[in-house]
Amino acid sequence: MGRNEQKKGSVAFIGLGTMGHHMALNLLRAGHPVAAFDVRKEAIDSLVAQGVVAAASPADAARSADIAISMLPDTPHVEEVIYGESGILASPPPGRLVVDMSTISPVAVRRMYADLKAVGVDFIDAPVSGGPIGAKNAALSIMAGGSADAFTRAEPYFHAMGTTIAHVGESGAGQTVKLCNQLVCAINIQAICEALALGRASGVDLDQLRGVLLGGSASSWMLDKLGPAMIAGDASAGFRIDLMLKDLRLVQEQALSLAVPLPATALATSQYVEARAHGEGSNGNQALFRVYDRMINRTNV
Ligand code: NAD
Repeated sequence: MGRNEQKKGSVAFIGLGTMGHHMALNLLRAGHPVAAFDVRKEAIDSLVAQGVVAAASPADAARSADIAISMLPDTPHVEEVIYGESGILASPPPGRLVVDMSTISPVAVRRMYADLKAVGVDFIDAPVSGGPIGAKNAALSIMAGGSADAFTRAEPYFHAMGTTIAHVGESGAGQTVKLCNQLVCAINIQAICEALALGRASGVDLDQLRGVLLGGSASSWMLDKLGPAMIAGDASAGFRIDLMLKDLRLVQEQALSLAVPLPATALATSQYVEARAHGEGSNGNQALFRVYDRMINRTNV
């Protein structure tokens, strides 16, 4: 190590799926030693060749880490990693900082914050936006809730994974901002489906339609990134329908608890429910266009 190079903090990374795989790699590339754990051994193996150290449990990964970061599907998975037998609460990282970057319940997050604080460990909820492409390119938007001090300590790690990084408030605020992000995405994709359905039925070239919309006031991330797959009928990989339904459930729970009506979100949610009922839960969000195909009785969907 050169005289001016500072030693980078070490990371325990837990959850090496669609997003976590890239995020762990980007931390490693930024110079942070990474010890990683996932319940799928093959997910760990695929990173070991690149220099990540394999761990046998969350506690094992956290053993000598400055920070523990998790990227897991839903609230019960994060609870397992925090409260489980070989979890983080029983054996916190020596750096006493834990960051969950999954999209989970803000209520559960605030409980984790309190339980970890009781044993002298800081906890930040820091969900992300930007999808697998953003994760791969270290270009995620990261919205963090927790204490200002903990955020300052976590910031260098966030910079290895994202470009838009914001401290948006106390514990749980990161999740609230993420849920707002998700309801915009879910409603936006319905609008794109409707434009494509109308354009197609009217005989307009859909690639050209998309290109024109992208150049004007109807432009959106969804249209840019998911539009080509929607037009091509490619329903594979990406942000899964099941994960968006999980997010929409969290949105509705929070809205009901605060008596905030969200009628457009309710409509979008029912389209996602329809998609899952047709076996599309593992497909990417672009498969929403097939709901519209089914509504107008197009064959082979
Ligand atoms: P994923 O299902 O691809 O990956 C999750 C990983 O966690 C898997 O490898 C799984 O084996 C592992 N896992 C599950 N339970 C575990 C446990 N108890 N201990 C250790 N590992 C465990 O999910 P993803 O697409 O990477 O998404 C992760 C989170 O990020 C979700 O909350 C999702 O809503 C959110 N998110 C996803 C995207 C996206 O485009 N995929 C974008 C933004 C946010």
